[in-house]
Amino acid sequence: MEAKTITLTINGKEYKAREGQTILEIARENGIFIPTLCYLEKLGPIGACRLCVVEVEGLKIPVTACTTHAKDGMVVRTSTPKLERMRKEIIKLILLDHPLMCEACPLDGNCELQRLAYMYDITPTDLHYYPVEEIKYEETEHPSPILTYHPQRCILCGRCVKTCTQITVVGALTFKGRGASTVISKQLPTIFYKPECISCGECLAVCPVNAIEEKKIRERGKKWEVREVETICPYCGVGCSAIYKASKDNIFAVESPPDLGVNKGDLCVKGRFGFDFVRHPDRLTTPLLKTKDGFKPISWNEAYDIIHAKLLEIKEKYGPDAIMGLSSARCTNEENYLFQKFMRTAIGTNNVDHCARLCHSSTVAGLKAAFGAGAMTNSIEELDETDLYFVTGSNTTETHPIIGRRIKRNVDHRGAQLIVADPRRIELVKFAIVWLRHRPGTDIALLNGLAHIIYKEGVWDKEFVEQRTAGFDEFLHAIEKYPPERVASITGVDKEELIRAARMIGSAGRVTFIYAMGITQHRYGTDAVKAIANLALLTGNVGRRGTGVDPLRGQNNVQGACDLGALPNVFPGYQPVTDPAVRLKFEQEWDVGTLPEKPGIAVSEMAEAVLDGRIKAAYIMGENAALTDAELKKFREALEKLEFLVVQDIFMSETAQYADIVLPAACSFEKDGTFTNTERRVQRIRKVLEPIGFSKPDWMILRDLLERFGVPAPYNHPSDIFEEIRRVTPQYRGITYKRLERGGIQWPCYHEEHPGTPFLYAERFNTPDGKGHFYAVHHPENYGKDERFPFILTTGRVRYHYHTGTMTRRTFALNELMPEGFIEINPADASRLKLKDGSWVKVISEKGEIQAKVKLSERVPEGVIFSSFHFAEIPVNMLADGENLDPVARIPEYKVIPVRIEPAG
Ligand code: SF4
Repeated sequence: MEAKTITLTINGKEYKAREGQTILEIARENGIFIPTLCYLEKLGPIGACRLCVVEVEGLKIPVTACTTHAKDGMVVRTSTPKLERMRKEIIKLILLDHPLMCEACPLDGNCELQRLAYMYDITPTDLHYYPVEEIKYEETEHPSPILTYHPQRCILCGRCVKTCTQITVVGALTFKGRGASTVISKQLPTIFYKPECISCGECLAVCPVNAIEEKKIRERGKKWEVREVETICPYCGVGCSAIYKASKDNIFAVESPPDLGVNKGDLCVKGRFGFDFVRHPDRLTTPLLKTKDGFKPISWNEAYDIIHAKLLEIKEKYGPDAIMGLSSARCTNEENYLFQKFMRTAIGTNNVDHCARLCHSSTVAGLKAAFGAGAMTNSIEELDETDLYFVTGSNTTETHPIIGRRIKRNVDHRGAQLIVADPRRIELVKFAIVWLRHRPGTDIALLNGLAHIIYKEGVWDKEFVEQRTAGFDEFLHAIEKYPPERVASITGVDKEELIRAARMIGSAGRVTFIYAMGITQHRYGTDAVKAIANLALLTGNVGRRGTGVDPLRGQNNVQGACDLGALPNVFPGYQPVTDPAVRLKFEQEWDVGTLPEKPGIAVSEMAEAVLDGRIKAAYIMGENAALTDAELKKFREALEKLEFLVVQDIFMSETAQYADIVLPAACSFEKDGTFTNTERRVQRIRKVLEPIGFSKPDWMILRDLLERFGVPAPYNHPSDIFEEIRRVTPQYRGITYKRLERGGIQWPCYHEEHPGTPFLYAERFNTPDGKGHFYAVHHPENYGKDERFPFILTTGRVRYHYHTGTMTRRTFALNELMPEGFIEINPADASRLKLKDGSWVKVISEKGEIQAKVKLSERVPEGVIFSSFHFAEIPVNMLADGENLDPVARIPEYKVIPVRIEPAG
């Protein structure tokens, strides 16, 4: 309902406002300055600093503008001699207890207190009128190991405490003590809640006076050299915007204003602190050639000559399909576009793929079949309108922290409901009404079981199903086989909880189904994705705001890499390589002869193809496949066997060690371009620093190589490439660099006046008949059961690291917070095996063996162990099965790996 309009007078002038607004909000909206130190719009009123005092006619004493709601007819004065005197005294009192060593403070020039002291013309002499006793502060320290708290600087504004409770919903900070000796301290656990600081740094970001600061001292450079550049965080698929502050040759700070990007001022620990890798001494700075004495530096020309000669030789000898290319979900859209263009034109093969094969290829296949496109149906922003979240196979607060935070906030502050289906006790479980702790590998049974109950209880959306879907009868027939008793026995979930969850889903107004690799990284991942799509169709939760099926994409540009055709079966825009009309279009645009029509080899099939002699050479851009692929022993044997391998990366990764030529690439802070985030939003990335050493942006390297191979590549800037992308990719046609200057645009965007598409399928699905398609999918019996291997290993990401750790492990804060990997094991299992925290074990599967330290944790149920894949010392993918793939998506099984555990050495 629209708020009533009221009229009030401020400083003699009339203003219109909405009923319920505070005086401060109205003043700010109308450009009237009222000083504050504790107020932040996103936190709402705190009322601690009292600097925002104003006079209201009819009231005897001044009131705080941040806490006083305006009333119709109110007369307000924001600046009178009396008010200014009061404010000056307040600032003086704050300064009495604040070290006046501004020049030595990193916030010098940006301190909100310093600014007000200048504004009110307060000098140290003014403070001499007050007798001051030294304050004895309570013992305290910041709960984060990477942050320091200075009680002397603290003005007790309360922003950090409120941010920790209200914005991050962590609640790790509180006030301790009384009166002048009050300090900020860690919140103690209660029987209901054990607060755990996650070092997100939001408290540091809101502190107006640097009372909370990073332990690592950073060189901030000369003030006149400092540049501030808006770009996108290089880590997960959320695609948060931030302003990076750089001195002449390094980044030293990150800021994120409240109105910026999809994150609206929020950043997680990786986004806020994860930039040290940019100038790490391990960065590759020059092309390298492998010799018998190790790698030796060569010039770019030499490198290009060798690559050109060797790839042509192999192509002539074995044919173009003997060469494989791996593109990168960490590179830009323009670079992914050029990479697939290079493979398809210069080499002449569709053997191009990237890591989406190993994370969300089942989403691309499953959602394409069900809805017509393999992407998030709705927007991050719409999560604020959802009534119920069904989160499965996604440890959202660790892997997509800003989305996780939004869910927590909506549950905590707005009363949205949350159901979590996950074998592990992830953080979101604390916020869930129902936690379905199903056994690993039983997702389809669980999802079918929920659909069964929803249908039987009559809480499905009959009208939606009748009007907008196809395949319902076959689906009904399939879910008949999943009554609650059977599903409870397969999944281990209590029957009553299943019924409760199903009723909640069926009766909620707007449901969003959120999932990630816990659903997709299976041999039956495509079917599991279809089972989620079935639930959304059955309950009519697609095609409306605040609903939908939201697969959260892991890497910063995995969506873009898929969109731009770094896949073996499609050109950019998911246009099939098998379609002659599509091939003709690309042949004409690229000004080349015949393009290959046979779909290429997937990365998950690459090792086999090398070992059986089909693939002889490979070009790997920005992928650390020697750690991420399944069955690593075999994959590494394949890398060894290649006749020629080029690796283009920012560090000498585990994969680069196998290369014949290593090309040094610029990282995302050193180039321009675009990324497409998990919600299909195309966003600009901008150069903050010049590329290190002789490194070059990947697009430049690919352009140079295209030219060497005689393919026209008239690109002087990524925007030239983007113009070409627009011409051949219908979903991107209306997006231009100029438009992106005003913020990201969500595809599909068909022309330059098109606003982009926040949510899909409002009118029709993208399938040939325009309907959403149900699929009959079934639980694979005895999945993951093997008497020789009594444990199930499940792998995933953790909050403090990313991918194979090449960037995060070269970042001070993230390394401090998690310096090593481990295997999580339930204490009951550990006790049976006589293991303690920190014991070393061997983990053995059918495919391999690794050694690792164990960490006792109730997060995993008995019989299940968990490990991240970020640490080269614990290469868990050695244990994964690279042979038995999902038949459609060709994704290996990473989540249900039967293993046994033995004490090490
Ligand atoms: Fe970066 Fe993802 Fe964290 Fe946002 S949520 S700051 S994109 S890692």
